[in-house]
Amino acid sequence: MSKNQNILIIGAGLCGSLLALRMAQRGFQVTLVEKRPDLRKIIQDAGRSINLALSDRGLRGLRIAGVEEAAKKLCIPMNGRMIHDKAGNTFLSPYSGRKNEYINSVSRPGLNMLLLDEAEKMPNVKIIFNHACENVDLENASAVFKEFNSDKEITISADVIFGTDGAGSAVRKNMYENHKFLFSFSQQWLGHGYKELEIPAAENNGYRTYKNALHIWPRGEDMLIALPNLDGSFTVTLFLPYENNDYCFANLTTPEMVHEYFNKEYPDVVEMIPNLSEEFFNNPIGPLGTVKCSPWNSFGKVLLLGDAAHAIVPFYGQGMNASFEDVVVFDEILEKYASEENINWNTILKEYESKRINDTDAIADLAVDNFHEMKEHTAMEIFQNKRKLETAFEAEFPEEYYSKYSLVTFKESISYSEAMKRGRAQDKAILNLLDDGKLTEEMSLKEKLELVKKETQAILHDDEVAFG
Ligand SMILES: Cc1cc2nc3c(=O)[nH]c(=O)nc-3n(C[C@H](O)[C@H](O)[C@H](O)COP(=O)(O)OP(=O)(O)OC[C@H]3O[C@@H](n4cnc5c(N)ncnc54)[C@H](O)[C@@H]3O)c2cc1C
Repeated sequence: MSKNQNILIIGAGLCGSLLALRMAQRGFQVTLVEKRPDLRKIIQDAGRSINLALSDRGLRGLRIAGVEEAAKKLCIPMNGRMIHDKAGNTFLSPYSGRKNEYINSVSRPGLNMLLLDEAEKMPNVKIIFNHACENVDLENASAVFKEFNSDKEITISADVIFGTDGAGSAVRKNMYENHKFLFSFSQQWLGHGYKELEIPAAENNGYRTYKNALHIWPRGEDMLIALPNLDGSFTVTLFLPYENNDYCFANLTTPEMVHEYFNKEYPDVVEMIPNLSEEFFNNPIGPLGTVKCSPWNSFGKVLLLGDAAHAIVPFYGQGMNASFEDVVVFDEILEKYASEENINWNTILKEYESKRINDTDAIADLAVDNFHEMKEHTAMEIFQNKRKLETAFEAEFPEEYYSKYSLVTFKESISYSEAMKRGRAQDKAILNLLDDGKLTEEMSLKEKLELVKKETQAILHDDEVAFG
């Protein structure tokens, strides 16, 4: 494959930086352009530490670019969900019965900085900050950028352009507004928004609550979660309806209301956030939405990846992981054509899209399912019993059983769409059997597993007959 090709990547977030690094490792000439200032030099997001859950699919992306071990140094393992009830009781629900399966809390800027550092080390990568993409000539693979400070415009041409400019993608907007091909686009918002808060570190960088878990305070319509940071603090995220609820963003308008709400719903958290109302009013409310669109490729010259192609709600902790997996899938296709003399970008971009789109649609739907599971189901007895049973299956029969969560999060050898199909059938099977009282005390764990498998197969068969 001829490497004498200029690649333009728009957006140096998590996906764009990893893609730039990997394309450079393959020998292409890469220009990576980012709207914001260099986050390694200028503190952003008002200095708040924002973290994400990194799991196996994301780690695989980092591995192919040789940065997995460096990334792991930024990670804190989270072995399960620590559920907090209103009375302050807690219990840990492991993510898996297999001891080696856990997710990781990682600093978003920390990981982004690592990827930028590694990309910048490559002699064939040029990174330009402070330049926002304004317009893309899709047919001729060139883009116009405006410099943040001076408003000066520059135009960059390439052989192929990758739009990795996130959920509000300017590249996607150009596809939407181009009338020479049919572009489908949907955006669905939840009625909830989110707000980040912080539990500061205790003395000597100690943790004010258990370190190695993703903490959840499920309250039905609203929910608080917290992920640990390396400095002892936790990044807390409140998910709350915008309006039409006893407590919602529209009516939490005074420090008294905020304290009343937290004292009622999250009393054990109040004492851990000393500047609660200050933080609440200083930090912005973020929207939660799903973006689906197609095609991702236009004229064989421009391709969307990451959130620009498929933004999802954060409840499966998979947005970044899916974006890193995009790079893996794309890289596999490049590898397939590596021995060909000339690059046919049209073929490569189309093949990537047709291989990937069902999977990103699946994780988008699973993420919405998990929103309901986290805020409501984690507190319900039948779901807790289901999790206990699944954890026991995974511990006792590690090769035979993977819960839906494990299929999505830890089994990157199967696709998101397959994980969704199998996982949903399993969930339905176990919940039905529990509800019907068919998983009795007298049965051995093996007998229970066999019954669950049989019921799952029957559901999969019915689905096959109904939906093909
Ligand atoms: C509250 C919340 C929690 C989340 N938690 C998790 C989690 O636990 N695990 C997980 O896997 N995912 C999580 N996600 C999802 C994750 O953040 C995204 O999926 C991931 O950041 C996507 O990476 P990206 O590079 O495609 O987009 P981004 O990270 O958004 O990067 C896009 C980049 O493009 C730049 N850009 C934008 N417009 C332009 C332009 N016009 N010109 C040039 N540059 C531009 C931006 O400045 C940015 O640097 C969460 C998301 C949210 C909102």
